[in-house]
Amino acid sequence: MVSKILIANRGEIALRVLRACKELGIPTVAVHSTADADAMHVRLADESVCIGPPPSRESYLNIHQIVAACEITGADAVHPGYGFLSENAKFADILDAHGITFIGPTADHIRIMGDKITAKKTAQELGIPVVPGSDGEVKPEQALEVARKIGFPVLIKATAGGGGRGMKVAKSEADLDEAISTARAEAAAAFGNDAVYMEKYLGKPRHIEIQVVGDGEGNAVHLGERDCSLQRRHQKVWEEANSPALNVEQRMKIGQICADAMKKLKYRGAGTIEFLYENGEFYFIEMNTRLQVEHPITEAITGIDLVHEQIRVASGRGLSVTQDEITFSGHAIECRINAEDPRTFVPSPGTITHFHAPGGLGVRVDSGAYAGYKIPPYYDSLIGKLIVHGRTRVECMMRLRRVLDEFVVDGIKTTLPLFRDLVSNQDIANGDYDIHWLEHYLAENPA
Ligand code: ADP
Repeated sequence: MVSKILIANRGEIALRVLRACKELGIPTVAVHSTADADAMHVRLADESVCIGPPPSRESYLNIHQIVAACEITGADAVHPGYGFLSENAKFADILDAHGITFIGPTADHIRIMGDKITAKKTAQELGIPVVPGSDGEVKPEQALEVARKIGFPVLIKATAGGGGRGMKVAKSEADLDEAISTARAEAAAAFGNDAVYMEKYLGKPRHIEIQVVGDGEGNAVHLGERDCSLQRRHQKVWEEANSPALNVEQRMKIGQICADAMKKLKYRGAGTIEFLYENGEFYFIEMNTRLQVEHPITEAITGIDLVHEQIRVASGRGLSVTQDEITFSGHAIECRINAEDPRTFVPSPGTITHFHAPGGLGVRVDSGAYAGYKIPPYYDSLIGKLIVHGRTRVECMMRLRRVLDEFVVDGIKTTLPLFRDLVSNQDIANGDYDIHWLEHYLAENPA
């Protein structure tokens, strides 16, 4: 068993992890930059260490400082949350070399899934369905032949990609040269690596992802899917579990494929296998080897605390459940409350003057915000997550409408008004949307 956990993160996820540790009776260490000295995760932790000035590279990404904080406090395990160092294989290696447990997968698994081409190849070998495409990198002189084989439209993607950068669609042969050269130029500028590969472009897919957890010894389970199709610039905005597009057979089939793959891989910890879904088919796009922002909707419908599971497997205690014991109950929706303009999404840091979080049956608010809290301008703009659960999707939507009316955050702009619009929209009510829906909606409904 680990005896003291250092949480190498901030904001709502640091608080989330801290809560799990407290329930398990494990002492916690918060780390923080000078900008976060008053943050809730620092106040609620048993101990805290200031690890540097506001910029992330000097604090939350500063591996030396984090290892030093472990040594000073005697923490023997680190939970990385999401973002920051959560998918940094070197960090996992360094902790290992210091005899500190990384609460996450092995450094090798992080590396495999962190590279788009090896991730796709590995997924395919493990029996996971992938998007038809090139066999690894495509050089400009091979592009036409490869594209003809795949069939237009095709998508050119940076092998080092991330955040949707270095991605270009070629609708036909006429577009191909330009798509290749702009994708390569963007990739070189963003990642210092101009290598690209090619995939069939799917026109109207949904984004559906499967939550998995493994014990690192060959046992693994899936916890069903999340539908994260409502996105803006590839950023998820609203997530649901289960997906309005899948039935039970489809869920259990793709879930089992993912669980079996994780057993073969001997995967340790929580992970998410992301797919595009179109015309009844799943196409692997990537695997995230960490806890995701939207994990609470899975917790709502399964009753399983994913952070407890992460800590258990990191401690060598195995999973607390078998696949047969996992059941899916009702429907859950998460809204990401960002300190941003609800239409332009321009960040709106500042001081929250009034904060009232809603309550009642089936309501969870994960947030470190409070009245008087000053949102620092240095980090991402997520200030909280609203998670609503109901016995059915209809009940969940009715509850969400009530809860959004009750939620008050004054002093800054937030995305709450956008959710108040979406919860009353007919397409959303019908569950009838794909990954482009929100962009179209925003274009048609400007401020
Ligand atoms: P990144 O790591 O840059 O975010 P992903 O491979 O995860 O790249 O893809 C990001 C987004 O791009 C997906 O969520 C989807 O919206 C779109 N996308 C990726 N691959 C395809 C494809 N083959 N066809 C259509 N859209 C795609």
